[in-house]
Amino acid sequence: MTASRHMVETTLNGIPASRGIAIGLAFLVDRDLPEIRGSTSLDRGQVASEVARFKAAVKTADQELSRLIRRAPQEMGQHLYVLEMERSLLKDKLFYGRTIETIQKARVNAEYALKTTVDRVKAAFARIEDAYLRERGSDVASVYHRVLRNLMGGKAPEISAISRRVILVARDVSPAEASQLDLQHVLGFVTDLGGKTSHTAIIARTLGIPAVMGLPGASESIRTGDLLVVDGGTGVVVVNPDDETLARYEELRETDARAQARLAKGSHLPAATSDGFTVSVCGNMELKEEVVAVLDRGGDGVGLYRTEFLYLNRDGLPGEDELFENYKEVAELMAPRPVTIRTLDVNGDKVGRGLFSEQADNPALGLRAIRFCLAHPEVFQTQLRAILRAAAFGNVRLLFPMISGLPELLAAKKAVSAAADALDSRGVSFNPDPEIGVMIEVPSAAVMADVLAEHVKFFSVGTNDLIQYTLAVDRGNKHVAHLFESLHPAVIRLLAGVAAVCRDSGVRLAMCGEMAADPFATQLLLGLGFSELSMHPAAVGAVKNTVRALSRSRCEDVAARAVREKSAEDVRRLLAESSLSAPNGRSDLKSTPAAP
Ligand code: PEP
Ligand code: MG
Repeated sequence: MTASRHMVETTLNGIPASRGIAIGLAFLVDRDLPEIRGSTSLDRGQVASEVARFKAAVKTADQELSRLIRRAPQEMGQHLYVLEMERSLLKDKLFYGRTIETIQKARVNAEYALKTTVDRVKAAFARIEDAYLRERGSDVASVYHRVLRNLMGGKAPEISAISRRVILVARDVSPAEASQLDLQHVLGFVTDLGGKTSHTAIIARTLGIPAVMGLPGASESIRTGDLLVVDGGTGVVVVNPDDETLARYEELRETDARAQARLAKGSHLPAATSDGFTVSVCGNMELKEEVVAVLDRGGDGVGLYRTEFLYLNRDGLPGEDELFENYKEVAELMAPRPVTIRTLDVNGDKVGRGLFSEQADNPALGLRAIRFCLAHPEVFQTQLRAILRAAAFGNVRLLFPMISGLPELLAAKKAVSAAADALDSRGVSFNPDPEIGVMIEVPSAAVMADVLAEHVKFFSVGTNDLIQYTLAVDRGNKHVAHLFESLHPAVIRLLAGVAAVCRDSGVRLAMCGEMAADPFATQLLLGLGFSELSMHPAAVGAVKNTVRALSRSRCEDVAARAVREKSAEDVRRLLAESSLSAPNGRSDLKSTPAAP
């Protein structure tokens, strides 16, 4: 390892994927494989042995993955499904079957057939509009690398052999690799690829390792032995910092560590403002295992349970019992705290492999979420019955995504009644009347909030979509990420309108979009009247702490002024100038692209 402190300080900016500051020497993981350019054409007699070679490479990959699963550190527990998913991809028809078919029909070598198959699968992933799901394409890439390496007789990169305290720099870190890391030795991650919603980012956040991702060229410009500062909260990576920069970041790291320790202490207590207004600070989750993270981080409940996962990467659809068991477990573990189960929010083409063929040029505006469910009553009914049954075992709320107007809401509520009738006639125990709410994430729903309010108990604002649709900014497109602006006055005015409806009607006002996780925005949200904020669990402590430093009446003043501002910059200045701004004075809003 050659330390190169004499080189000039360079600052790189990437995507802030997991907060915290790491300072240490870079360790470059080079796992690039030679590019597969052309094919070798096979004689008829060579085909069978080529297929056998491919099968053997897949088998070795499978053995490697099961070994990883067995040896994964305990902290990985809830994320092992990623490795299981990679294993199931290995045997997936689209991957395994198609590659064999290509070898046989096109009479090409296994490497080339594999590449053709994977390019096709990756292209299909790239068309998915949901950022979270689109980044699942990296799981396909990781499986591809594993099989290809085996075909070419290479050895698995020895990430697990790292025995120094280093910052890992790579083109990409696959979830499988992340799971091999000895956390004692990895101070941080820097990767060329990946984004805030990649699995590795999620794992880094869960494990509390600072990470900056989506930093093109990092693995080429950084050398093993360079001194690095990684600020996972801002996305800044400083290569070979000078003494002054280093001292500044060391101090920041100390302050941050002290602040985190303070936050952890208060995260299990309720969050009330100095004038006695209690805000419920909840966690968002996607997998039932994440209920542990919500509880550990002090969440007052689950403000958003995204239920998509059980429908993806499988050949049929989940049955009522499977869904029921899943929801029941979450409800029981959280009880008496609330669990807000959102009904399925996907486009049909992602559900139950090939069962529905609703592909669209513009899927974000297509047959998604409640639209899909209403178009496929059998899918919707199954999920609703499962939710109503689980609601007998805890404090379950039912949340409809993508409602754009009253007829959809009424149709969805009618579907709930139908599900209740069906259960009634079966004599199973269920709760016919859980609290029902709608997500306010389509501008028309915000405009029609007064009409919708007559039919629900709560609104949950999904800012990830509300901002995308209001500002016409694709939440997953990095070229327009700078336009994704939570503090845009248009967004604030929409929120204020919804808040006014809630004040008049008594409908509870919650937010479960990423804006809720930013302490800089907390004063504005409290001032507008939000009484529940739900976010990724790691943010709960910071938001609770911020709430405690605020007085609601002052927040209301700030919110009243914010509504009259003319630009996001003005709003930002107003919030910063207000003595109520977040304790650490930092906002993730400006630098954070659309969140999952
Ligand atoms: C949102 O749109 O803000 C939201 C919470 O839902 P999702 O991110 O799952 O679309
Ligand atoms: Mg949404």
